[in-house]
Amino acid sequence: MPQNLLDFDLAGLTAWFAELGEKPFRARQVFHWIHQAGVADFAQMTDIAKSLREKLQQQAVVQAPAINFAHVSADGTRKWLFEVGVGNGIETVFIPEDDRGTLCVSSQVGCALECTFCSTGRQGFNRNLTVAEIVGQLWVAQHSLKAEPNRTTGEIAERPVSNVVMMGMGEPLANFENVVTALGVMLDDHAYGLSRRRVTVSTSGLVPAMDRLAERCPVALAVSLHAPNDALRDQIVPINRKYPLRELMAACRRYLVHAPRDFITFEYVMLAGVNDQPEHARQLIELTRDVPCKFNLIPFNPFPDSGYEKPRAEALRVFREILQDAGYVVTTRKTRGDDIDAACGQLAGRVADKSGRVMKRIHKEAA
Ligand code: SAH
Ligand code: SF4
Repeated sequence: MPQNLLDFDLAGLTAWFAELGEKPFRARQVFHWIHQAGVADFAQMTDIAKSLREKLQQQAVVQAPAINFAHVSADGTRKWLFEVGVGNGIETVFIPEDDRGTLCVSSQVGCALECTFCSTGRQGFNRNLTVAEIVGQLWVAQHSLKAEPNRTTGEIAERPVSNVVMMGMGEPLANFENVVTALGVMLDDHAYGLSRRRVTVSTSGLVPAMDRLAERCPVALAVSLHAPNDALRDQIVPINRKYPLRELMAACRRYLVHAPRDFITFEYVMLAGVNDQPEHARQLIELTRDVPCKFNLIPFNPFPDSGYEKPRAEALRVFREILQDAGYVVTTRKTRGDDIDAACGQLAGRVADKSGRVMKRIHKEAA
């Protein structure tokens, strides 16, 4: 099997080059070609000695996961479905905004943590993504977007992806080593050069792994809170039974000692009648008293047979105002890419189903 070079950070590539008898600066050059120029074909790496190019052609590949389809939403949001084994897909979403372009990256096929309102969780766990599959999502997005001029301005962005959020399918901290290596590539100036503040890991609260992340690769942290007390959180985010709120809040405070930002973002999916009442907002204020934080309220995105409903606009407004009046910064996540099932928690990634649905849509449009 040829070695997939997308599986390496620069240290790994340098070590592998050493085995080939090649110098570290050669590894750096190839790393630039792959990640900065987006070149997968060794023949095109023109400043690399021909003998090395030939060696690489025999022993290595630069291979991102295969694209099953790519789709653009009416609001400019894009979604890629990648095939990662028979019948298995993962999804990656790009959200363009005026001042940034955010890529939402997946870390696992399915998820073992079974949050009750999450369609990925309902799917169960299949496997961890490799480093190449995680980095490959950014590689494909960055280089395919770079090739396209902006639809309104006609400009070509040098780095269309300015931010990465590990908020796609899966629990990133449950695939710790591969995620940390992939984050290293995202941050590396020899590759994507993203700042730590612009790379966010979202976790449902794996406390020991949060401490390890602080040590190994402190990036911005979002914590999926979703409930203000253990009784409710035990039900909707089952990992809470293992790491209850008191421990989670302590882990957040410890994380902030190393974090590149001086606050934690708490994500809170609003489920009508379940966790969206004024008393829940008031309990949240008590709970997070000692944790510098912001809140990101996410109206529940429905999927078939979820058993939950979107919150009413009025409930959302009251909830937000209680937090704001207590001095919190609160954002409400706009739903983007709804027409292509790219919104939070709608990433299901069954290749057959999804492509079937898109085919239907294309047929409709053509008719
Ligand atoms: N496993 C990680 C990251 C992936 S989920 C985590 O749980 O944090 C990214 C965010 O989308 C999480 O806050 C998650 O709770 C939220 N989410 C999941 N299902 C959703 C749904 N149906 N509607 C809205 N948000 C959802
Ligand atoms: Fe997994 Fe996150 Fe979904 Fe929970 S919300 S099941 S942790 S992907």
